[in-house]
Amino acid sequence: MNSNAVIAIHGGAGTILRSSMSASAEADYHAALHAVLSAGQRVLADGGSALDAVSEAVRLLEDCPLFNAGRGAVYTAAGTHELDAAIMDGSTLDAGAICCVKRVRNPILAARRVLERSEHVLFTGEGAEAFAAAQGLEFAEPEYFHTEARHRQWLIARGQQRAMLDHDGATLAAAPSPSDDPTPHEPIDPNRKFGTVGAVALDQHGHVAAATSTGGVTNKQAGRVGDTPLIGAGCYADDATCAVSTTGSGEMFMRMVAAYDVAAQMAYRNVSLQEAADDVVMNRLPKIDGRGGLIAVDARGNVTLPFNTEGMYRGFARLGEAPVTAIYR
Ligand code: ASP
Repeated sequence: MNSNAVIAIHGGAGTILRSSMSASAEADYHAALHAVLSAGQRVLADGGSALDAVSEAVRLLEDCPLFNAGRGAVYTAAGTHELDAAIMDGSTLDAGAICCVKRVRNPILAARRVLERSEHVLFTGEGAEAFAAAQGLEFAEPEYFHTEARHRQWLIARGQQRAMLDHDGATLAAAPSPSDDPTPHEPIDPNRKFGTVGAVALDQHGHVAAATSTGGVTNKQAGRVGDTPLIGAGCYADDATCAVSTTGSGEMFMRMVAAYDVAAQMAYRNVSLQEAADDVVMNRLPKIDGRGGLIAVDARGNVTLPFNTEGMYRGFARLGEAPVTAIYR
């Protein structure tokens, strides 16, 4: 048994400043991250697979309205929610993903079913929903995904007639209510707002897995798909190298094939997990204005959580140790 078992999670990166976060909002984020890490840690402690641990962690993050995935997802330009998710098993290289679903309550569970029960890897839109329905997964009405904060953010984005790289949960959490302040004078910086959730884990059997789920970017055009559901861009896992989940400006992560690049650098350049992840996040992505971060673990239990933004909701938990959570740089 591998005693280095560990789980790491993220809840999105962006302009998360201490100055714009109230003490109670900050405490809420830490508590949410802590609860999710504890749940993932229990799965691993019971001898569960890395795949089970990341599924469970991301399902819980989807259910938490603080994060941009599942309940609490951002709005499209059409005023709807379109959700994307992917999952990968490093022991087999099996993968499953869905994108542009509107009514699947937990997109990560649908991605998991694709991995386990389909000969395909990625389903989109209506086909993805039909697959999820045939699998007996839970559906939710559009109102379920609604939160006041994301709706307000969408109204601001729509007013500026631009697509925006997602929410900044901290800023939203600290923002005054709409009646106090309509906030059009305070535009959301499109280059500095991100959100998505993800998990990576190494289990006691020595296997790694990764999972990522998102509502995408605020006011995105209907049908837009980012890096999250694309294997190799927003999610990747291979026991031979590492498991990776990303968050940030999806278009740039797609162009850099960011998650796979971390694994490829380890395999082909023979560098450490941290060296590979730092190169992708701190050197390669910034060359094309890619902003965000990633979490990664390798089969030896090394963990790294680099980001090139002001903050990233993040944490990790090793067996028998208290979870560690962090928000700011
Ligand atoms: N990468 C996600 C996307 O582009 C968004 C994010 O992580 O904030 O859809």
